Amino acid sequence: MLKTNHIIDTILFASRDIIVISDAEQQILQVNTAFENYFSNPPDDSLRMMLADLLVNDSDNEKNFQNTLASYQDWEGEVMVKNNENKISKMFACCRWTDDEVSGEKSCITIFWKQQYDVQQYDKLTALPNYFLFLDRIEQALIAAPRTNKSVALLMIGLDHFARINDGLGHDIGDKVLIAIAGRLSDAIRRSDTVARFEGDKFGLVMQITTVEDSVLVAEKILKVLNNAFIIDDQSISITASIGISISPDDTLDRDELVKNTESAMRHLKKLGGNHYQFFSREMNQKAKTRIDMENKLRHALKNKEFVVYYQPKVNLENNAVVGAEALVRWLDPEKGLIPPGDFIPVAEEAGLIGDIGEFVLLTACQENSLWYKNGLNPARISVNVTASQFSDKNLVKKVQSALTQTQLPPHLLELEITESSLIGDMEKVIEKLQIFRDMGIHISIDDFGTGYSSLSYLSRFPITTLKIDRAFINGMETDAKTAEITSAIIGLSRGLSLEVVAEGAESIEHVNLLRKQGCDLVQGFFFSRPVPANEFEVILGQGYLYDS
Ligand code: C2E
Ligand code: MG
Ligand code: MG
Repeated sequence: MLKTNHIIDTILFASRDIIVISDAEQQILQVNTAFENYFSNPPDDSLRMMLADLLVNDSDNEKNFQNTLASYQDWEGEVMVKNNENKISKMFACCRWTDDEVSGEKSCITIFWKQQYDVQQYDKLTALPNYFLFLDRIEQALIAAPRTNKSVALLMIGLDHFARINDGLGHDIGDKVLIAIAGRLSDAIRRSDTVARFEGDKFGLVMQITTVEDSVLVAEKILKVLNNAFIIDDQSISITASIGISISPDDTLDRDELVKNTESAMRHLKKLGGNHYQFFSREMNQKAKTRIDMENKLRHALKNKEFVVYYQPKVNLENNAVVGAEALVRWLDPEKGLIPPGDFIPVAEEAGLIGDIGEFVLLTACQENSLWYKNGLNPARISVNVTASQFSDKNLVKKVQSALTQTQLPPHLLELEITESSLIGDMEKVIEKLQIFRDMGIHISIDDFGTGYSSLSYLSRFPITTLKIDRAFINGMETDAKTAEITSAIIGLSRGLSLEVVAEGAESIEHVNLLRKQGCDLVQGFFFSRPVPANEFEVILGQGYLYDS
C-alpha cells in the first residue's frame, strides 16, 4: 500500500486544478504543478508569497475571502486570480482548514479552478455585457479591425468617488445610479460598439475607430452625459468619471495588456482628481508596475511588522509646554530605509490595507502614550490620522474602543485627525459617528483645514474639538499678507466656535511669532521639532517644554 504522503504528492502532481497549501497566517507552504504552470513561478519564490497575493483584491468577495480565512473558517466563491505577469482570470476557489493531528497546527488547503462552462455573460444589475463577454468582444474587435484598416480603442470608465454614494446614500441608491449610468452609456454609443460593466464602479467601452480623435470625441461625450445630474428617488446626484484610453495596435496587440494599460491610465487620472480622459503611456505602465510591486511589499511589511510610529510634538504658544503630539507612521523598508507615509498611504488605501496599518498606528500610539502617562510624565494628547475610508469603516468605533480598553489610556488623551474631505455623504450619519467618539471623551480635529470643501454651516454642527490649519497657509504667511489674513480668519473662526486651533508646519521663528500674535493655541512644525521616534519624544515629554529662542 502507498504511503499517505506519496498519495498526496501524486494528487498534487496530477491535478489540473491549482492547489495551494498555506499556514495559519496564510503564508504559502506548498503548491502543485498546476500552480507553477499558471504562475510560472519557481516553487521557492511561491513559498514566500501570501495566499492573498494571488488575488486582484479589488472586490467585496475577495475581502470576504480574506476576512473569512482570517477567522479560520472555510470559504468558497469566485475570485480574480492574477499571475506574476498580471494576467487576470476569474476562478472558483474552495478553501478548507485542517488541523494537524499531532501538533494541532492549522493549514488551509485552497483549490482554484476556472469555471468556463457556466459563466454568465451579462451583468445582473445593469444587464450590460459583463467582464467575460466584454473580453470576448475586445478579442473580436482586435481580429476584425485590421481587416478594414481600423484600430481598436478601449475605454475604461471609472466613476469618481462612487464609494461616497454607496456609503452616504446607501447601496440601493448606489445600484439605481449604476443602472441609470448603464442606460446613458448605452445611449451614447454606436450599436456596433460594446459598453460593458467591468465590475463595481467600472464600465468599459470597446470600439473600432478610424482615427484616435474618434475616441476623444466619444470620451468627451460620455463625460458630458454623465455630468448631467441623476435624479434618483427625488435626490439629485452628480457623477464624474475618469476615462482611461488605450489603442491597439498603437499601444499593444495583446488583449490583456490593452485592458491593463487602459486601467492604469484610468487610475492615474483618478489620482489627479478625475472628471477627464487620459491616454495610456509607457511611463504610466512603469508606474502601474511599481504600484503593484509596492502593494505586495506592503502586505509583507504588515506581516513583518516593518511600520513604526513617529511623534511630532504640539506646543502651547502661551507657555511653550509640550501638550501632545501627532502620531505619524513610517515604513522601515529593509532595502530602502525609512519611507514617508505620502509614498505609501495612497497605495495602502487603494489596496485595502489602510485599515490594518491604521489599526497598528492607533494601538501603538495608545500603548506608548499609556505607558508615558503611567510613568508620571505630563499627560499628552496624541492624535492619530484617520483617512476617509477608515472613517467610513463600520468597525472604527469598535477598533478605537478596543484600543483604549486594551491599553487603559484615558480617552481624553486620544485625538482623531480627520480630513475635511472625509466628512461628506450623509451628514446626519457623520455627525452621529463623531458624537459617539465625543461621548467616549475622545478629541476630534479636522486636519488640513482650509484645503477641503467643508460647508461652514455643517462646521458648527460637527461635534469636533479642534481645527488644524493646513501647512499651505502657514508656509507663506510671513511674506504674503493675504495668506496671513486666512490664518487669522481661521483662528477667529475657531474662537467663535469655541474650538481649539492648531497650526501645522511652522518652520521659522517668524511663523511662530505671527501665529502667537494672531492668538493661535498650538503649533506643530519643524521649528520646534520634526517627527521623532518614541524614545526621543519621551525625552521631550520629560523635559516638558520646547523653546523658541
Ligand atoms: P498630516 O496629517 O497633515 O501630517 C502632517 C505632515 O506635515 C507630516 O508629514 C509632518 O511631518 C509634516 N510637517 C509637520 N511640520 C512640518 C513643517 O514644519 N514643514 C514641513 N515641510 N512639513 C511638516 P508626514 O509624516 O510625511 O505625513 C504626511 C501625511 O501622511 C499626513 O499628513 C497624513 O495625512 C498621512 N499619515 C501619516 N501617518 C498616518 C497614519 O498613521 N495614518 C494615516 N491614515 N495617515 C497618515
Ligand atoms: Mg494629520
Ligand atoms: Mg495635516
